[in-house]
Amino acid sequence: MTAGIIDGKQIAEGFRQEIAVTAAGFEMRQGLKPHLAAILVGDDPASQVYVRNKERACEKAGLKSTLHRLPSTTSESELLNLVQSLNAAADVHGILCQLPLPRHINPVTILDAIHPLKDVDAFHPENVGRLLQGRPRFLPCTPAGVMKMLEVSGVSLPGQHAVVIGRSDIVGKPMAALLMQRGADATVTVCHSRTQDIASITRQGDLLIAALGIAEFVKADMVKPGAVVIDVGINRQGDRLVGDVDFASVRQIASAITPVPGGVGPMTIAMLLKNTLTAAELSISSG
Ligand code: NAD
Repeated sequence: MTAGIIDGKQIAEGFRQEIAVTAAGFEMRQGLKPHLAAILVGDDPASQVYVRNKERACEKAGLKSTLHRLPSTTSESELLNLVQSLNAAADVHGILCQLPLPRHINPVTILDAIHPLKDVDAFHPENVGRLLQGRPRFLPCTPAGVMKMLEVSGVSLPGQHAVVIGRSDIVGKPMAALLMQRGADATVTVCHSRTQDIASITRQGDLLIAALGIAEFVKADMVKPGAVVIDVGINRQGDRLVGDVDFASVRQIASAITPVPGGVGPMTIAMLLKNTLTAAELSISSG
């Protein structure tokens, strides 16, 4: 069997066009564009690429984006001041602070300071709690992007066994929450760095989601024949980007697989645009 490719780039493009139509409608009604403010502290090269891609995507979809670039010497209180001024700015709808932050700044302090109604990454504890209770305001971008890919690709989840590798706050945990929530109805197992005999668990997954950050960790003998495999990982190998899945071997056994690049990454950005739109609409309804 050779797996079908789930083309995240193409799915994200279609979704972005829908967002562009809704954004244009918002602008016509309200006389302003949905506006994302991005904060980038320091000069981490990967973060610069991510932020640039997010800005470009905003532009393409007719959203306004503003980048606040700060030097790596910025103090925590200076960064907090910026977040508070963006919280108070009526024309800013969404705020994102690109991670990682320099070591002297506690990311939790900063992320907790972003107003929950402008928290387009869905990292604020209020939004995480709402997600777990099944009444989300914003969906976390990467897991929501994965769910959208599965939906568009016609992957049926109810009763299926989904195995997630990784338990981070950004990907693994919210991914598991979305998969098990009512409506998705998958049975979910989460593996992590302390899981024993991980292959015996991953081989049970009708759906396998790899989000651990180790290049080509998932080999063909860890995958159930016919499984759907979603590769969230982004690992740099020289000038090549590779995922957490050994694409060439796993492709021979899975029924569908996402590539890296061109898989989950573009979907993450599309979901950020969607959340910015939601934030803009919330700003109107919350006065
Ligand atoms: P993280 O480092 O915060 O978490 C990694 C998780 O993997 C941890 O929960 C850890 O327990 C688990 N893990 C580590 N080693 C393991 C092992 N040997 N076996 C099983 N589990 C193990 O990483 P993250 O932020 O969740 O990101 C994971 C990957 O996804 C990274 O490659 C990151 O670059 C990528 N990522 C991609 C996108 C995207 O848009 N495509 C978005 C976010 C993260």
